[in-house]
Amino acid sequence: MKYCSTRGKVSGLDFTEAVMMGLADDGGLLLPESIPELSPNDLQQLSKLPYPELAFQVISKYATDVPESDLKELIDRSYAEFEHPQITPVVKQDGLYILELFHGPTLAFKDVALQFLGNLFEYVLAKSDQRMNILGATSGDTGSAAIYGVRGKDNINIFILHPKGRVSPIQELQMTTVTDKNVYNLAVEGTFDDAQAIVKEIFGDLEFKELHSLGAVNSINWARILAQVVYYFYAWFQVSSKTGAEQINVAVPTGNFGDIFAGYIAKRMGVPINQLILATNSNNILSRCINTGDYSIADVHHSLSPSMDIQIASNFERYLYYLLDCNAKKVVLAMDSFKNNGNLEFTDAQKERLRKDFSSSSIDDNETLETIRSFHKKTGYILDPHTATGIAVGEKNSDSSCPLVCLATAHPAKFGDAVQKAIGLDPELPAAFVGLEKRKKKVITISADKEKIKKYISSNSI
Ligand SMILES: *Cc1c(COP(=O)(O)O)cnc(C)c1O
Repeated sequence: MKYCSTRGKVSGLDFTEAVMMGLADDGGLLLPESIPELSPNDLQQLSKLPYPELAFQVISKYATDVPESDLKELIDRSYAEFEHPQITPVVKQDGLYILELFHGPTLAFKDVALQFLGNLFEYVLAKSDQRMNILGATSGDTGSAAIYGVRGKDNINIFILHPKGRVSPIQELQMTTVTDKNVYNLAVEGTFDDAQAIVKEIFGDLEFKELHSLGAVNSINWARILAQVVYYFYAWFQVSSKTGAEQINVAVPTGNFGDIFAGYIAKRMGVPINQLILATNSNNILSRCINTGDYSIADVHHSLSPSMDIQIASNFERYLYYLLDCNAKKVVLAMDSFKNNGNLEFTDAQKERLRKDFSSSSIDDNETLETIRSFHKKTGYILDPHTATGIAVGEKNSDSSCPLVCLATAHPAKFGDAVQKAIGLDPELPAAFVGLEKRKKKVITISADKEKIKKYISSNSI
């Protein structure tokens, strides 16, 4: 399988080259040249496999330059870190199916991808005798999942900037209690936007980037999307064997369009998904786009589901490439227009296709709280605010012909404040997180000053 950029200037890459490139050198996003389609018979063959074996079957169709035995070992090692034997189990509550994606080391769905990506990076670096310094800014979930993905790995150091005192206490502890020598936590005196802007500027300094082999772990990396495709297969197998259904509807709480794009790929590969339901909070650019064709940027609102407080959904460009009939020139024009005018224009035919590919709506914080409250009352099951967004929007949009599967993207204990606000209870912390506050910490406080941060990286880079 070869990879090409949505903007047309990069092509013919192998899988591992695409993974190491991250963002394409022409500013676009990398996609496989084709999407393998599975027949119902092929699906049947995969339906009984344990998660890691299923992951191998799906990923190996795209990672064709990694020898099979190596890939298998990488995948097995990645999912051995999950505390549930099924990795991503499906539970039935209130007539719908919850796909629990939060059984990894940092209790959010990002572990499914970042455990794999960390091992993959280490593998490729060792083979090519290279090293990498990962740099990223986080508002919470990505940073901890990335740190857990690469802690203790050879030839990789990781520098994660978080806004000091502005991530949830458990998110902060998850990051700062990792004391491995390759992990550097920087508590930046500023906001997330300050930290993010500094990271962008540092990546823009190409000399510095090259000198320190800077790498990124954000959700534009194809390997992250690919690892997430697997659990759509898994959900389908679980729910169809329980219900005999011929298709499922899937509701996905989305910010960066990453997780829902993985669902789109799974559907194109042959997973019988009827509706793909995209759920947003009040940062609703994506649901506006689907319902009215209005893809115009607005200010970021802070919500109770902070991991979806995003206006520029970087992975949307991947879908756009298909919507524009794989015409890279059209993608370049569209992205230029978005950059210059803050919006994208669609033809009537494109709007129709958007509505055919996705159903969508958004809910505000009140509805999020109300959903956590009513769901808990009916079932005793506690939802995190992101998952609640998916469930509320899923129930509103799902036609009744198929079972509804809702992706649970975080453990409720990770967003205890919202849960407390909704139901007056603190969700129980999984055993591995009890007493976290007593552990040794590794973090430095640093001002929101690009030069100071570069100096820190220079003196600690591998
Ligand atoms: C990152 C995140 C999301 C959004 O995922 P995207 O891939 O950006 O769509 C949703 N919920 C939680 C808990 C997250 O951490």
